[in-house]
Order: sequence, then structure tokens, then C-alpha cells
Amino acid sequence: MNPAPALIRWYRSHKRDLPWRDTSDPYAIWLSEVILQQTRVDQGLAYYLRFLERFPDVKSLANAPEQDVLRLWQGLGYYSRARNLLATARIIRDECDGVFPHTYDQLLVLRGIGPYTAAAIASFAFGECKAVVDGNVVRVLARFFGIPDASDTPAGMKAFRRVADELIPESNPAEFNQAIMEFGALQCTPRNPSCETCPLRAGCSACNSGRVSELPARKKRVAVRDLWFYYFVPDNGPSTWMRRRVHSGIWKGLHDFPCIESDKPIPHSALRKMAEERLALALPPGTMKPSAKLDHVLSHRKIHAVFFETGNVVMGKNRPEEYRQVAWKEVDDIGIPRLIDRYLEGRAM
Ligand code: SF4
Repeated sequence: MNPAPALIRWYRSHKRDLPWRDTSDPYAIWLSEVILQQTRVDQGLAYYLRFLERFPDVKSLANAPEQDVLRLWQGLGYYSRARNLLATARIIRDECDGVFPHTYDQLLVLRGIGPYTAAAIASFAFGECKAVVDGNVVRVLARFFGIPDASDTPAGMKAFRRVADELIPESNPAEFNQAIMEFGALQCTPRNPSCETCPLRAGCSACNSGRVSELPARKKRVAVRDLWFYYFVPDNGPSTWMRRRVHSGIWKGLHDFPCIESDKPIPHSALRKMAEERLALALPPGTMKPSAKLDHVLSHRKIHAVFFETGNVVMGKNRPEEYRQVAWKEVDDIGIPRLIDRYLEGRAM
């Protein structure tokens, strides 16, 4: 079943009355799409109207000082959107004689305009048959057709674009795009979609197989691993000991202090012997009291770091070869991980 006719019928009787739907001005459509990228419709509406009043066309925006644009944007967040908006307006003024490009391919070249926005402008303003694919569209397609691809991968997005491009009717691309986006926003919502009253229900794969909550699928997340790093921080007056991490997958090329790494916690009573055997560090009595404990989260690991300040100790000859003496004043310049930076910030206080 092709859901396009039912989606368009549904749209005509359910669509919200929004000002950017009543225009074919590419500038106004672009503005609305950029504002709505990370902003709810009810919040974005006032900004859209204010922007259009202050900068009614692309030339007036292009001629505005950046400060004015940022001030008007205040409260919307993600200020790079405003900067890109202004940069693109200036390109259109300077390189396109102030006239908005008319095709998807030309729009895509402009800074800050990705496939979604280019398709929205090309179809809404110029009637080009280009499907928009945003989160709402992905959800409707994944559920209706039972598409298992992960929507947050490039391959998955390609699959959704292909399906959307096959569905979009040449006779009415703009209304179809509006319809499927609005349907995803109002009817086929992320949680508790209104399946009972849905005009697509008879043909909906997810609804008929009880998989509504599973779709759209997302890439499986890699589990976060806990690691324990026990650092010994020698202080030999003007210098300390550090190593350049050459073997580890974490922070390769950066420097940290002598360290015992473990995938489980180690009792502090066992650390003195380990430091001597593995790092050739003879720790004086009284140094096994941690001076700092920091948790540090990386993409797939959580590091529980414990720092022991060892005072004036020297690493013995049997130390691992990557360790060397480093002057304290050099430490900021040789490249250190953020965790070590955080420790040093606390230490300096
Ligand atoms: S039946 Fe439910 S899951 Fe299927 S398209 Fe309609 S609202 Fe979405």
C-alpha cells in the first residue's frame, strides 16, 4: 500500500496553521527550517515572526551586523545556526546577486544547508520533487514499512531517503513533504502514537506486528567499561615523571604520570608493592593516602582515577622505558589528557 494519498488527505484536515506554510518565499522557508532545527514550533514561531519583521529578505539579513543577528537569536541557543544563516545570506548577496538558488543541488552547496533543508526549500518554494527526511519522516517510514535499518547511521539514512524518494508524488511534492512531517509530529509520535485513529493502520507493519515501540531502530550502543587508574605523582622540585602513552588506545600520544591501570578496583594496601614492581617506584611511608579522586567519562569508558602525591621519589632504572623526567613548567605544553589537566587545576589551588 502506498501511504501517500492517505497522508495528504489526513494533512488537509489536521494541519496546524503555521505562517511558513502560507508562503513560497525561499528565504522565509529557509529561516523557518533553520529556527525549527533545534527548537519547538511554539517557541520558534515568535522568533520567526520577529526575524522576518526585522530582516524581511535575504539582502537585509546579509547587510546586518552579526551582533544584531545574534541579539535577535538570543534564547534559541546553538548560535552557530545564526552565524551560518548570516554567512549564507552574505554568499547569496555577493555570489548569487541576492537571488536564492532554485534547485536542490545548488542549495546543497551553501554553508549551513544540508540535505534536509535543501529538500525543504527546493520542494516548498520551487516545487522540486525532493523528499525531506527528518526524524518525523524516518519514524513514519520505519513503522509503516517495518524498516529495520538504524536511522542514526549513514547507511540507514540512505535507505530511508530511497524509500521517501520512491513515495513522493511528482504532482504534489511540497504537500506530501509537509504531510508526512506533520503526521510524524502529531499522529505517529515517538511515544504513544495514536494508532487507534490512524488512517494508515490497516497497512502499518509495526502496528500489525506489535513493534511500534521498537521502531525506528537505533544503532546498538557500546557498553561503557569501568577502569581504575592509580596515579603516582612524583615531585622532584622543578620536575616530575611522566610517560608518553604510546601503547594504549586511550589518549595515544598524550602524557600522564606513572600509573597502574586495572579493570577492577585495587586495595590501596596492594598498590605500594605493585608500584615498586611495575614502575620501579619506591614509595616513602605515608604516601598511600590519596590526594585526589576524579571520575572521568570517555565515549566508551569511565575512568575512576586516584592520585597519590609521592613527594621526592625517583623512578628506578628498571622503570618502563616510556617514562622520563619532565620539568613542571613544560607540562602544559607537551600534551596532556583532560583528566590530568583537571587534576593539575585542583592541585594548583
Ligand atoms: S498505525 Fe501507529 S505506528 Fe502505524 S503509522 Fe499509524 S500511528 Fe504510526
